[in-house]
Amino acid sequence: MIEKKEMIYEGKAKKVYKTDDPDYLIVSYKDDATAFNGEKKGTIEGKGAINNSMSNIIFQMLEEHGIPTHYIEQISETDTLVRAVNILPLEVIIRNVAAGSFSKRYGVEEGTPLAKTVLEFSYKDDELGDPLINDDHILALKLATFEDLDTVRGYAFMVNDALKEFFLEKGLKLIDFKIEFGKCIAGDEDDEPGDIILADEISPDTCRLWDAVTNEKMDKDRFRRDLGNLEQTYKEVMERIRK
Ligand code: UDP
Repeated sequence: MIEKKEMIYEGKAKKVYKTDDPDYLIVSYKDDATAFNGEKKGTIEGKGAINNSMSNIIFQMLEEHGIPTHYIEQISETDTLVRAVNILPLEVIIRNVAAGSFSKRYGVEEGTPLAKTVLEFSYKDDELGDPLINDDHILALKLATFEDLDTVRGYAFMVNDALKEFFLEKGLKLIDFKIEFGKCIAGDEDDEPGDIILADEISPDTCRLWDAVTNEKMDKDRFRRDLGNLEQTYKEVMERIRK
């Protein structure tokens, strides 16, 4: 039985623990919710367990689509064993429909379909407020290499294709989402050390999901915008995904 050792990181929604094996970590999901770079705080009861299970279902589905992920095994309602990676300091955002900061930045009404799927990078730095960053900035700051960006971009579009279809079958439109990648510390049967794999989570905290019929928001925007029914909405998304 693999056990949690020292906590090495506590983020807004998750804690990360060492295990006996340096190649594996345990991620523990919390019910805490934050928005606007930590300015707004709250809890959504049951969110930790829901995001843990949902992320794991999605990561297994993505593995079947040929996308390598950090997922190994769920070990409790809120905890999962994952491969240890060095996270690239980039938030990779994919947008299918205008919403959120994109709508604000370019003055486009939320819900406007985009003529092209958009990939954006943000520099993961809380003090700077995760600023938008482009390929040249990333290379100039040595945050990743040209090859890393090529790999990340390829996987991100593969994730989008698989996720869009997966959610649509559950009656949910995938408006946009954020993913993170890391370089694995140890190899396995498929990867060498240093290979890029999908890490972090995919959940209603990190995706915008709208009901395919009513366009009702079924994601963290309910928290960000005080739309209510938080617990029920997360539960409903989980129930649809389990089907
Ligand atoms: N997102 C996220 N974490 C962040 C920023 C964004 O998971 O720190 C997700 C967000 O849930 C949405 C997508 O990335 O699905 C695009 O977010 P956007 O840039 O519109 O920012 P926001 O409106 O959340 O500030």
